[in-house]
Amino acid sequence: GLTNRLQNVFGKLRGKGKVSEDDVNEAMREVRLALLEADVNFKVVKDFIAKVKERAIGQETMKSFTPGMVIIDIVNKELTELMGGTQSKLAKSNKPPTVILMAGLQGAGKTTSSGKLAKMLLKDNHRPLLVACDIYRPAAIKQLQVLGEQIGAPVFTLGDQTSPVDIARSGLQHAKENGNDYVIIDTAGRLHIDEALMEELRQIHDVAKPDEVLLVVDAMTGQEAVNVAESFHGQLELTGVVLTKLDGDTRGGAALSVKAVTGCPIKFAATGEKIEPLEPFHPERMASRILGMGDMLSLIEKAQSSIDADKAAEMERKMRTAEFTFEDFLEQMEQVRKLGPIDQLMDMLPGMGKMKDMKNMKVDEKQITRVEAIVKSMTKDEKRKPEILNHSRRKRIATGSGTSVAEVNRLIKQFDDMRKMMKQFSSMMGPKGPKGGMK
Ligand code: GDP
Ligand code: MG
Repeated sequence: GLTNRLQNVFGKLRGKGKVSEDDVNEAMREVRLALLEADVNFKVVKDFIAKVKERAIGQETMKSFTPGMVIIDIVNKELTELMGGTQSKLAKSNKPPTVILMAGLQGAGKTTSSGKLAKMLLKDNHRPLLVACDIYRPAAIKQLQVLGEQIGAPVFTLGDQTSPVDIARSGLQHAKENGNDYVIIDTAGRLHIDEALMEELRQIHDVAKPDEVLLVVDAMTGQEAVNVAESFHGQLELTGVVLTKLDGDTRGGAALSVKAVTGCPIKFAATGEKIEPLEPFHPERMASRILGMGDMLSLIEKAQSSIDADKAAEMERKMRTAEFTFEDFLEQMEQVRKLGPIDQLMDMLPGMGKMKDMKNMKVDEKQITRVEAIVKSMTKDEKRKPEILNHSRRKRIATGSGTSVAEVNRLIKQFDDMRKMMKQFSSMMGPKGPKGGMK
């Protein structure tokens, strides 16, 4: 994928004490290929490379002690810029309710994202109302009702015999009468953009006068998502994009082009079919993720909202300084387990996405339990100084944990690899972590 390819390019640059113009050119050639391969719009790639080159071939880069880092930093910043620079917030009407119109093709994830958005708002103590305007797809209304019930948000529907425009109008009235401060209008999609769909959306738009028109696009469709965004934007003034299915392997292409092509910011990123609160899209974090630096910030933020701040800060420090032991490892694992699906979290850790690809780092909950048993069978000393783990100790641990010596060996090897990687990561990022180190 894009991440791997870019990691290779930057892996080569990272160690370099001196970078020539040829090095920059070669790196940029690779970056260009990586971006094109990830289905980033051709023109976007061209502009991007030109900008990076212009900045990278400046005097300062060449004179710097760590020119490789300077270039990575430039690419990081330009990627961030490409995706809109800063995070764009959800609009808030000063005359509630705030109305959000969800639009997009069939199957893009409108209904699911409506549920996730409602869940996010509920979490912030708002009172969202979901309005079911998809009267065409069989069971579409039911789908929204089930979601609403699941998360505890009311769903307004008038069945499938009333026009979507009337449903939207009545839904809005209902929200006003019932004190809902947000109204999320879930609309129908089509397989392709057609005039009937656009006309219906325009009519709903006219009566609902939304504060946000969010286009939901499927990140897995790559360039197609960008084309869809462009066509919608031409006909309906969009205020933002929700990029769904970012849990697939295609995690860069669409995100990189949408803003550049349409001028419309990505406001939310969605992963998974489960209804979790929708996550705001952070261009800066997405850029680091694409560059393979792991999404430390997202992880830390997530950790902070689920576990106490002191522990999160400590976890961050340990990850940064790479001085953790098996004890920390165990504790971290327990913390991380509380946060949610393990494989999603692993994607956010530096280098982990890559490790997961390696067959020996298959992440599943059952295995985590075994890993915990192994670590718990270690003595205090062993946890702190893994280097003393000789064969007889390993054998004892295997017996104590009900696992095998092979499993114990594998874990110790993984732990070692992880430590090395963190060391590498922290030396790359500098002592202050992503922010301080890179800017
Ligand atoms: P709609 O037609 O635009 O309303 O799309 P739906 O919300 O019904 O979603 C279509 C399918 O995509 C469903 O099977 C969803 O579970 C799935 N889906 C939606 N969002 C995501 C996502 O972020 N990640 C994944 N993996 N699946 C998603
Ligand atoms: Mg739907």
